[in-house]
Amino acid sequence: MAVAAVADPEELVSAARAGDPRALARLVSLIEDASPLLRPVIRMIAPMTGNAHVVGLTGAPGVGKSTVTAALVRTYRAVGHRVGVLAVDPSSPFSGGALLGDRVRMQEHATDDGVFIRSMASRGHLGGLASATPQAVRILDAAGFDVVLVETVGVGQAEVEIASTADTALVVVAPGLGDSIQAAKAGILEIADIFVVNKSDRPGAHEVTRDLRNMLAMASYGPGDWKPPIVGATAISGDGIDELAAAIDSHRRWLTASGQLQRRRQASARREISAIAVGELQRRADGLAGASRLDELADLVCAGSLDPYAAADELIAASRDAS
Ligand code: GDP
Repeated sequence: MAVAAVADPEELVSAARAGDPRALARLVSLIEDASPLLRPVIRMIAPMTGNAHVVGLTGAPGVGKSTVTAALVRTYRAVGHRVGVLAVDPSSPFSGGALLGDRVRMQEHATDDGVFIRSMASRGHLGGLASATPQAVRILDAAGFDVVLVETVGVGQAEVEIASTADTALVVVAPGLGDSIQAAKAGILEIADIFVVNKSDRPGAHEVTRDLRNMLAMASYGPGDWKPPIVGATAISGDGIDELAAAIDSHRRWLTASGQLQRRRQASARREISAIAVGELQRRADGLAGASRLDELADLVCAGSLDPYAAADELIAASRDAS
């Protein structure tokens, strides 16, 4: 109990690494609260990261992402992996109702220290979920989770970006939701490493699989490229989930053998750095606005005595001094 009250970053990190779920929850909250403690924590854990395999799950609401996630957790636990789950809602700045979902989903794993489930809210976080998510992943990674499942619970601008920060991106589709392939958000199909046709117990699953297969047949793959497999599953009964875990594992091996793991992580770090830098600039500009410099610049731009590029340059230069 004492640990959760401690605000010392070093103690929080070592408690989280020792498996204390409250310390871990506290660390993730630092991100949401944009706490000044976040920076020392992220600095401290940097050398402890890079070991977890990060799996993103995305797809239209109702296809069964949560159910697939829960089934994957069960499969990974059965082989002794520690699993972190981040449920991210890119369409909402607040977690609100999603926290209820946490409690519901937590029930099965409530007494299992090998599972950590958490909703992510971007409340107050500069750079939004696009930069908050990789930081939360990093915290779970440093805490020793073997697999981190990042599930997008809503659809939104950042969905593709969040999914593409994963090592392995799953796109979940299901029959009975209209044309689920067409309905999948533009850009999502391109990032899929594995397609999951969930609700295979329902009529129409074959058609969905066939449509996906036709779509993939039109794409061209070079030798050595990863060709996304289509895995049929019935998440409510667990059918197909072992096959899905096996497909994720093959993808992980391919990533390592092909050098793509490094390339992807580099691309993802690049996006993260940009998001932090832009957020930081915004924070400093807002600080300057408090000092009314932004207002003055805006007046000058309105009056035509300064062009907006020059004003922006001045703001950037001033924010450097304000760091
Ligand atoms: P999400 O919005 O994508 O996270 O979807 P959920 O996991 O909440 O599932 C939506 C609904 O589909 C729920 O009522 C689930 O019980 C149901 N569902 C999930 N997987 C399956 C499945 O394999 N077969 C059937 N028939 N229903 C499923």
